[in-house]
Amino acid sequence: MSEEHECIIGEWLNYEDAKLITFKELKQKVKENNSTFDYGLKTYGEDFMNGLMQQLKLKDYFDNRKNVNLNKFKYCPYCGKEIKWNVLKKEAVRWVKKVKENY
Ligand SMILES: [Zn+2]
Repeated sequence: MSEEHECIIGEWLNYEDAKLITFKELKQKVKENNSTFDYGLKTYGEDFMNGLMQQLKLKDYFDNRKNVNLNKFKYCPYCGKEIKWNVLKKEAVRWVKKVKENY
């Protein structure tokens, strides 16, 4: 048996911080991005922020019509397990409801 691990679901595409991430890390990154965005919006205003960064929605990462900064994997590169995007999508919806934030 291989060691238990959180499967890698994709590569987060950011020129400063490109890395392989898990579902948990994806949620964290969206959350961090949006806290920074909200702070910037309050501090610098809408026009400034729209040119600088985007507000991200977790659900967009599960929508194949959207272009997102995540290279989504079909299989975990470590264990070869299939990434069940439809299952993760449901988890994401539950998580967003639970944290009651606008993700
Ligand atoms: Zn894995």
